Amino acid sequence: MATSSGTGSALTHLQCTACGREHDADRLQTLCPDCGKVLFARYDLGRAARTLTREAVAARPRGMWRWRELLPVRDAENIVSLGEGDSPLLPAPRLGALAGLKRLLVKDEGTNPTGSFKARGISAAVSRARELGARDVALPTAGNAGGALAAYAARAGLGAHVYMPVDAPELNRKESSVYGAEVVLVRGLINDCGAWVRRRASEHGWFDLSTLKEPYRAEGKKTMGLELAEQLGWEVPDVIVYPTGGGTGLVGIWKALEELEQLGWIGARRPRMIAVQTEGCAPIVQAFRQGLDHAPAVHGARTAISGLRVPAAVADFLMLALIRRSGGTALTVTDEEALAGMREIASTEGVFAAPEGGAVWAGIKKLVAAGTIDRDERVVLMNTGTGLKYGELVSVDLPVVDRL
Ligand SMILES: *Cc1c(COP(=O)(O)O)cnc(C)c1O
Ligand SMILES: [Zn+2]
Repeated sequence: MATSSGTGSALTHLQCTACGREHDADRLQTLCPDCGKVLFARYDLGRAARTLTREAVAARPRGMWRWRELLPVRDAENIVSLGEGDSPLLPAPRLGALAGLKRLLVKDEGTNPTGSFKARGISAAVSRARELGARDVALPTAGNAGGALAAYAARAGLGAHVYMPVDAPELNRKESSVYGAEVVLVRGLINDCGAWVRRRASEHGWFDLSTLKEPYRAEGKKTMGLELAEQLGWEVPDVIVYPTGGGTGLVGIWKALEELEQLGWIGARRPRMIAVQTEGCAPIVQAFRQGLDHAPAVHGARTAISGLRVPAAVADFLMLALIRRSGGTALTVTDEEALAGMREIASTEGVFAAPEGGAVWAGIKKLVAAGTIDRDERVVLMNTGTGLKYGELVSVDLPVVDRL
């Protein structure tokens, strides 16, 4: 491998988040071979700091690969990019005023390629899978991860296989197919799609990129946390409110803050991490309220907010632990509240948020009303995607007139 195209990645090994054992990072890995739990990428942060300085990272070309020392890809030739990352952190005073919040910020992930933050995780995972020799990649998805996988696999020249629920948003089904992936619609939920992927992947030798069963999607999503700290002048906000499905972003942002503290770029203070789910599918909220360390799977999950239709998540224990450690909480909103929230964000700030972003806003309003969030606090609303993909969830009643 030519050293001239080395990224400077300081990746050293993979470490199990449950049993702590270390595993080789330079071969394709999924869950811990010893205990079946989530593996995290670990870095030599001292080595990373030799080239990764706050000045260097600010001067590099925009995008998430500015953070390459803290990402897993070793050879720059293997980076598969469509320009993901560096989404804006928009002050939202008009939206905030609706709840009396003075310092509301929207991290607008709808600006990413394929219209959601899934692009970050998939860019990292597809790049690393290619680097480690994968030819075909597959995943189960509620929708957006399928579009992102299909796009990045096309760009990488890899085969892509996407399994999504038959009622996934129309545009997610179409975009995945247009990007050239094999798309299979499953009568069931994302977990049922996961069972199909496991079977087909083992039959055909595809690499399974199920989130957090694969260690590097979380690394891509981690860059949201790196950017947030940078955008706030190396401070952390008081509160981060996140629409929680598989929880990759929640886990990734928390990991980013830990690494930044170890680098000495931020202090020990952490934002309160708050998970929003919908009433029809709220495994993390229920487990949080019951004081459980793991979240039992929800049966008969029903919600129109597709990114939150995740009845069981492999990283449940990581999410619950970090929410508690941060002093955060978890709460539900209804689908109707989420869809109304989507309109409020759009009509006050000009951001056509995904319904998941609408759910976050609905959650923030409840938290302010309950006194859980103070009106003076700096609150980040994670808008994880663009609303432009969800035409079927939006109905408008418009006047029609004849020609004058
Ligand atoms: C996938 C998705 C989510 C859930 O993300 P996780 O990190 O898996 O919890 C939220 N919003 C949108 C728009 C998504 O596509
Ligand atoms: Zn383990």
